Order: sequence, then structure tokens, then C-alpha cells
Amino acid sequence: MVFRVTERQRLILVPGAVEQMQAYAQRRWRNAEAGGVLLGRHLLDSHDVVVDEVTTPQDSDRRSRFSFFRSRRHESLARERWQIQSSTMAYLGLWHTHPEADPTPSGVDRNDWAQAVSRDAYEGDLLFFPIVGTRCVRVWTLSRRGTFRELKREVKRG
Ligand SMILES: [Zn+2]
Repeated sequence: MVFRVTERQRLILVPGAVEQMQAYAQRRWRNAEAGGVLLGRHLLDSHDVVVDEVTTPQDSDRRSRFSFFRSRRHESLARERWQIQSSTMAYLGLWHTHPEADPTPSGVDRNDWAQAVSRDAYEGDLLFFPIVGTRCVRVWTLSRRGTFRELKREVKRG
């Protein structure tokens, strides 16, 4: 899945990462919200950002149909992956699911994202926040300066 960030930059979610997230799509009423962190790379030759993998729900998370509280376990998992990948894997943002076809962020989400952008350590100017709905995935970004917007998905033609 490819999303346009700026004229020169794209966000690329590799199929494996999309599958990891979509496995938790809340297609049944009993499915609780799920989430985790995005891990990947800032490409040097282009300006693209690639999400290679994500962390998935942990026992220490608190999950219900309409809420998801990420535990600290995701940070330590991200750190472990970062060490295994000889420090090439970057923290790129946070994902979670919503029990709606076409997801939109809640006030709680906006607060959570604002905290991540101001408190977390990351490269560059912004973090990415995909929400996985039952029919589609949407991605928002929030920058250090507080610019908030949704990214447009690029659909391959032909
Ligand atoms: Zn949400």
C-alpha cells in the first residue's frame, strides 16, 4: 500500500506489514481493537519511508471493542527488533484498528498521537498513524509543529 506524503515523499507499507495489521481488522462484533508500532526505514536514495513490519497486540495491552491501550511492551519489542536489525530499523508511528468500515480518528486518538509526536524519539519531522477499518486503511500524519492531515492513497493504474 502506497500513500503520498509530499510531492517527493511516499509512505510504503509492504504487503507483510499490511497483512499483519489487517489480520486484526474488527470484522466480527466480538473483535477488540488492536494496535502496535510501525517499524521500518527512511530510504536514502529516494525520500520514501517504508514500513517493513509492525508490532501486534500483547497480553499486557488493554483491549475492548472501542478502545486500545498500548502497553510499554511495544517499546521494548521495537528496541529488540532495532538491535537485531543492527540499528537500521526506525520507529515510524502507531497503528490501531477501529470497528468501522471507513475509519476516522477519535479525540482520544488525536491526543495519543500528539503525545507520541512530542514525547517519542524518532527521525525526521513526523510520525504516521494508520487506522485499520473493516473495509479500508487510512493513514494520518502529525508533525512536530502540529500539522495534522490525512495521506492520500496512491492506486496503481494499468
Ligand atoms: Zn482510534
